[in-house]
Amino acid sequence: MKIAVYPGSFDPVTLGHVNIIERAAAIFDRVYVCVMVNSEKNPKFTQEERADMIRRSTAYLPNVVVETAEGLLVDYAESRGACAIVKGLRAVSDFDSEFQMALANKKLNPAIETMFLASSEKYTYLSSTVAREMAKYGADLSDSLPAEIIDEVSAKLKR
Ligand code: ADP
Repeated sequence: MKIAVYPGSFDPVTLGHVNIIERAAAIFDRVYVCVMVNSEKNPKFTQEERADMIRRSTAYLPNVVVETAEGLLVDYAESRGACAIVKGLRAVSDFDSEFQMALANKKLNPAIETMFLASSEKYTYLSSTVAREMAKYGADLSDSLPAEIIDEVSAKLKR
């Protein structure tokens, strides 16, 4: 069984993330979406809230499992039997840090490959930061966030 891990902060999950999850789920037998702690980010939603929003947004994908984790990503990936870490790439600006992380993870565990999926062009502009900003000022979120979570995100962020 081929297993992949798709890690991120997902604060909150966007349609860009869901697009990557769907495509990874079509390639791998199982995909673990993992809400990680990033000490450099100060999230608006708790780790459990973020995981729960991803669960609701991907409930139609039977081979996707959503979890939370702390610590090193490669340790989590190994514990789930994953052979790959999947990342989405939006633009050249994502490349530097993603490439550095891929090399660091390869050094930590050479058995786990990092695979990049190119963002679908309709979501290239989209990040959780952009979606939060739109939610804050009451913009239409239907092209940015999964329908299942729009009310929750608006309720929390709208001024
Ligand atoms: P963000 O940059 O939106 O805060 P995360 O840290 O949650 O995102 O990102 C998790 C992964 O999803 C990363 O690999 C990131 O490059 C990817 N990703 C984020 N937004 C998109 C998008 N719109 N299209 C494709 N991949 C994306």
